[in-house]
This record gives sequence, structure tokens and C-alpha cells, in this order.
Amino acid sequence: MQIDLTEVPFVDGHMHAPLARRPATADEYAWPWYEGNHDYLEMATELVPHRWGMRQMGAWLGCEPDEAAIVAAIATRDDDAWLAECVRHGTVGGIVVDAGYPPPDVVVPLATLARHVPVAWLVRIEVEAERLAAAATSLDDWLDAVDAASDSGLDAGAAGLKSIVAYRTGLGIGPVERADAEVAFAALRAAVAAGETIRLAAKPLNDLLVLRALAVCRRRDVSLQLHAGYGDRDIDLRLGSPLAFRWALESGAADGVAVVFLHASWPHIRDAAVMAAIHHHLYVDIASCIPPLGHAALVECWREALAVAPLTRIQASSDAAGVFEHVTIGALRARQTLGVALGELVQTGELSRAEAERAGELILAGNARRLYGLG
Ligand SMILES: [Zn+2]
Repeated sequence: MQIDLTEVPFVDGHMHAPLARRPATADEYAWPWYEGNHDYLEMATELVPHRWGMRQMGAWLGCEPDEAAIVAAIATRDDDAWLAECVRHGTVGGIVVDAGYPPPDVVVPLATLARHVPVAWLVRIEVEAERLAAAATSLDDWLDAVDAASDSGLDAGAAGLKSIVAYRTGLGIGPVERADAEVAFAALRAAVAAGETIRLAAKPLNDLLVLRALAVCRRRDVSLQLHAGYGDRDIDLRLGSPLAFRWALESGAADGVAVVFLHASWPHIRDAAVMAAIHHHLYVDIASCIPPLGHAALVECWREALAVAPLTRIQASSDAAGVFEHVTIGALRARQTLGVALGELVQTGELSRAEAERAGELILAGNARRLYGLG
């Protein structure tokens, strides 16, 4: 038995804006679907979820399920027509965009996306922090400037903040010694002075930025999204579990802030679910297109989340990574796999059919709408 969710709109709780220049070759098309090293891009086509994705695209577009044929079929649509078709085909009811990546100058502008679907967007704090390092005269000056950038993003309509600390020094945010932060900031400034490309990699600074972001979120009553688990190749997966976030929760630093762990925290889905069960303001996001996880893994993610976490603390997303059809494919996959997991709960008598349908609506749309003020 499966709960039919085809009529429920999909509000994408976490995605990246599509590249303005659409992929033109088979390799360019495969790349956004892959989380490995670009030198081994041929491995993308050896992934079962990738093959499933290509077959969905082929069935949708009426072409062969391979990258070259898909690129050719999409090329027959102009940019606006393709955005509209993606929204329609996936019954997409809203999107929550990480505006920090890819950079704004290479993606479809938010205003263009907003002509097709309700849009919420988030400020990525590390992008602001790296951009503002050059002009900062002291550690405090830099932290204040990052806070000001967050505030001005929120003033301009951002729905919340976002951090990729999991990809840099991990989710184990801890108390920061002032002297350690000063040393790390001096090294950062020296790198700026030497003309190096800045990449925040010092734990004292990364932790300070997240602590400051939590304070901004509390003051502005907005949420903080945290990447967790499988995603960028630079993550140390041992440090990417929500369990590592305990100090931030127990110290009071995260009090009053809705914190969303992204990417199903894969493979730490159980860690995410239990943390959301214990701490009322934590959310489990389950991404259903990128990173490439197959049917069994996604059904398992929903099972684990539904078995432990509150129904109002689970959200769905695509983690679309450069092409807008990821949102559509994520919507189709989320409905299908969540429908299986909810059907099991009805079959075992844990939820009534009405409760399962309500859960489907909350997870696919309602929770994200409430959290990001969409609709
Ligand atoms: Zn992402």
C-alpha cells in the first residue's frame, strides 16, 4: 500500500538556483547530478539513482534516457518555458534557495524564478565572511560586518541564514578561546594580504561565525540551515553528524532558533531524527534528488525520520545543484518514496489514512511554508 501524494504540491526546502547557461554537452549535463571528483565523471552514469534520473527525464521529454538526448530535448525550450515546464511537471509549490552558491552572477536571477514559483532565499554566511575579510581591520570588525551583511540580507527579504560549517570544520561547534580566534584571524588577514583566495578553514573562526549567525537568527526570528552529511566532497563525514551539534544546543547558543539539518544528514539520518525528537526546534530535511540516493535509501530515510521525529519537523527538498529539473525530479521522487513509507505506517496501524495524508502534506509543503514564510 502506498499513500498517493500526486496532488500534494512540493515545496523544495533546500535547493541551489539553476545556472543561467544551461548544460550544452553530455558531460556538462552529468556533472550537476554527481557528487564525486570531476576527473571521474564517468562514474556518474554507474550510479543507480543517476540512471533512474535519466530515465525519468527521457520519459518526461520523450527522448532516449541519455545525457546527450536530454540536452538536445531541453534545448528546444527557451529559458522561461523550461522553468515553467519544470514547475508544472513537478507540481512545485515553492522553493527555498541557497543564494550563496553558485554565485549570483552565474545563475538565473531570483526575480526570474519568482515569476514561476514562490521563492524564499537564504544568506550563506561563509560567502559573506570570505568576501568581507579583506576590508576588516580587526576580528570584531569582521564579525560585525558579517552580522551586518546577514541583517541587510534579511532586510532585503531573505527568509533565513545558511552555514556550510559541516564542510569546513564540522558540526562540532564549541566554545571559542579569544586568543585562538585572534591567531586564526591574523592568518586569514595574512592570506588576504598575500593575494590568496580565501577559504575559511580555521575552526575558531568557523565556530564564531555560526555562533554569531545563531544570535542573528534568534534576534530576527528566522531559521538557520546547516548542511550535514553526504554532499560536497570536502566534508569529513565523521564530523558531519547532527550529534556533533550538541554543545551549541546545550550551551543555549541555539535556543529559540529553528535549525534545519540538510541532505538527510546521510548516512546520519538516525542521528538527525533523534536530535529532532529531543530538541523541539530542530528539523530533518530529506533531499530526494541530490546527493544521488536511490529508492531504497530514500524510503529508509523517510522511515527513520517518521519513526522518531515529530511530523512537524520533517521537510523535503531536492538540493537542486545547477539545473532546475532537479527540483522536478526531486518532487517526483519525494512523493513516490514518502508515499511508500507513509503507506507502511497505515498498514501497520501506526497512522490512520487521514493522519498519513496530513503528514504527507506537512512534509512536502506545510512545514517548509511555515518555516520560510512561503505562501
Ligand atoms: Zn545544497
